[in-house]
Amino acid sequence: MYDKNNVFAKMIRGEIPTNKVYENEYAMSFYDINPMFQTHVLVIPKGEYQNILDFSQNATPAEQLAFWECFNKTADILGIECNFNCLANAGAAAPFVKQSVFHFHLHLVAGNRTDAFEELVSEFR
Ligand code: AMP
Repeated sequence: MYDKNNVFAKMIRGEIPTNKVYENEYAMSFYDINPMFQTHVLVIPKGEYQNILDFSQNATPAEQLAFWECFNKTADILGIECNFNCLANAGAAAPFVKQSVFHFHLHLVAGNRTDAFEELVSEFR
């Protein structure tokens, strides 16, 4: 069940500060608070969707269009044309990187690795 008190829901409601890159009616993007790469932005729908499957199965066509419009504009603003990664973690037991905020988000990352990334990968060694 969707938790209305997750940190992204609070950002959408304007209850906590957000370093926004772009926003439209149904989606927004903002800088990750703990960047793993030189550029690390999260793209989220404003609707209450727990993960990528929930979003792709249940979001309206308008919400889905707006999400991809936000993704495209964000990449454009950041100057990312190629050489980036896009990642969606789903579930607290996801095998690669676990989902920690249960509101669907795409990580959009580019550029050099940060110390936070080195710390993360050290857990796999
Ligand atoms: P995930 O592990 O895929 O659920 O990723 C959640 C991401 O949200 C992490 O990369 C966090 O650094 C990021 N995050 C958590 N709180 C905030 C916040 N207040 N502002 C921006 N990013 C956040």
